[in-house]
Amino acid sequence: MSTVFADFKKLTSHAKDYGFVFQSSEIYDGLSAAYDYGPLGVLLKNNLKEYWWRSMVQLHDNIVGLDAAIFMHPKTWKASGHVDAFNDPLVDNKLSKKRYRADVLIEDHVAKIEGKLNKEIAKAKKRFGDAFDEAEFRATNGNVKRYLGQMDEINQRLATAMTDGNMEELRQMLIDLEIKDPESGAADWTDVRQFNLMFSTQLGNIAGEEGKLYLRPETAQGIFVNFLNVQKSTRQKLPFGIAQIGKAFRNEIVARQFIFRMREFEQMEMQFFIQPGTQKEWYNKWKETRMKWHLALGHPAEKLRFHDHDNLAHYADAAVDIQFDFPFGFKELEGIHSRTDFDLGAHMELSGKKMTYHDPETKESYVPYVLETSIGADRLFLATMSHALRTEQVPGQDDPTNVRDVMKLHPALAPIKAAIMPLKRNKPEIVKVAKDIFNDLRFRFDVQYDDTGAIGKLYRRQDAVGTPFCITVDFDTIEEGENKGTVTVRDRDTLEQTRIKIEDLAAFIGPKVDMGALLAAAQ
Ligand code: ATP
Repeated sequence: MSTVFADFKKLTSHAKDYGFVFQSSEIYDGLSAAYDYGPLGVLLKNNLKEYWWRSMVQLHDNIVGLDAAIFMHPKTWKASGHVDAFNDPLVDNKLSKKRYRADVLIEDHVAKIEGKLNKEIAKAKKRFGDAFDEAEFRATNGNVKRYLGQMDEINQRLATAMTDGNMEELRQMLIDLEIKDPESGAADWTDVRQFNLMFSTQLGNIAGEEGKLYLRPETAQGIFVNFLNVQKSTRQKLPFGIAQIGKAFRNEIVARQFIFRMREFEQMEMQFFIQPGTQKEWYNKWKETRMKWHLALGHPAEKLRFHDHDNLAHYADAAVDIQFDFPFGFKELEGIHSRTDFDLGAHMELSGKKMTYHDPETKESYVPYVLETSIGADRLFLATMSHALRTEQVPGQDDPTNVRDVMKLHPALAPIKAAIMPLKRNKPEIVKVAKDIFNDLRFRFDVQYDDTGAIGKLYRRQDAVGTPFCITVDFDTIEEGENKGTVTVRDRDTLEQTRIKIEDLAAFIGPKVDMGALLAAAQ
């Protein structure tokens, strides 16, 4: 048996069974689009956040950190355009009473056409073998050309309707393309309406509009309003960046696909402040830097791609997504946006406070342009877990039915770095040594002591959660002989077992689970 990556169903049940992700408020039948991270999930998520934070802040002299409040002055969201323009086009199906995003229904329709196109290409590939020239086939095959033409036409029509905020046109597209409710198969649609995605709440002591607060829909604005505070207190010169990790909230209309689209999620954003006119250069630089970062994480190149935005957000002059091949297809993982001086300019206007930077070299003052990289910590978690989790034939075994579930996470990301196990739990001398090792290593790494079953079962459990090393204390460890004072260290991927002296364990494991190697590969 070759390796089989987990499908979506397997991934979600594995996440629950092993304590990575739970449905929020499950005992009350759950709250839709909200999830809780379990004991192993929180460790993995923290490691991913640390990898992002260190590669941004620790490794760049000109990027500094920030942790702004979730609540901000309500004028922030007026200036940023979120009050007026942070909308999704919502449509209901009259028969099923289900609610959808009209643009997503149309995008899914395009994805179906793309699926047919890919099938056509795969068929031809099989037929022509090595002689197959994909570029030529795409340019000449009648069916492929037709599919490409259809996709292009729909995408362009959608982009224009979205840019113009033309809800009638979106509804017309649903009709023209004969798009049906994916659940009921009915095509009876209501009008398409704009729906604002911000959650609001009320300040305790002020009634009415005055006291209306929003839960931030993006972390970026906390960075913009602090731009001068940070610049002055750190004496940074342009170009420089501010990085932040924090919760964001969006009242998503369709919240499906597990932690891919939630109403409360976590963003890792970096705003890079630059001289106007240099945005193209920085846009290309950050595109390249961010792709390298994803590849260093162990995600293969064929699971990542750039996707240019067809319709730009109100603040952007260029935007691209880094898409990941999730178990449900290629979808946005990270956005890279050239935000111009839109946000700083708008805050300057509405607050009446200067947001300009005085360039000590050119002696000019100007409102900086901004290049943003924005990634969801939860989507990164899902991408990482979906690529890591697989079922494979046990290495070194001939029997193809002898399989195991294993999470091939980079050791620096693994929630547990090493599990320490006594070969016999009723042998006090062995248990004591195992516990001593555990109590020593826990000062350095996230380790686990486990004596709850037969050793083979314990190994499989650690494979299933991605633990790179299993340390076993056996009879040789305690008995007189050449192996006294040594233990076996089992490698998760090769299953090779090496005998190591107890006092050398930290030095053996340390470099392998150190995030330094991962960070260096991303540079
Ligand atoms: P989408 O098109 O999927 O709704 P978006 O373009 O609105 O995403 P951005 O505003 O660019 O997303 O947000 C930056 C990043 O934040 C996204 O790339 C994604 O990783 C993450 N993100 C956005 N919305 C959600 C959500 N509802 N749940 C989880 N992560 C999200």
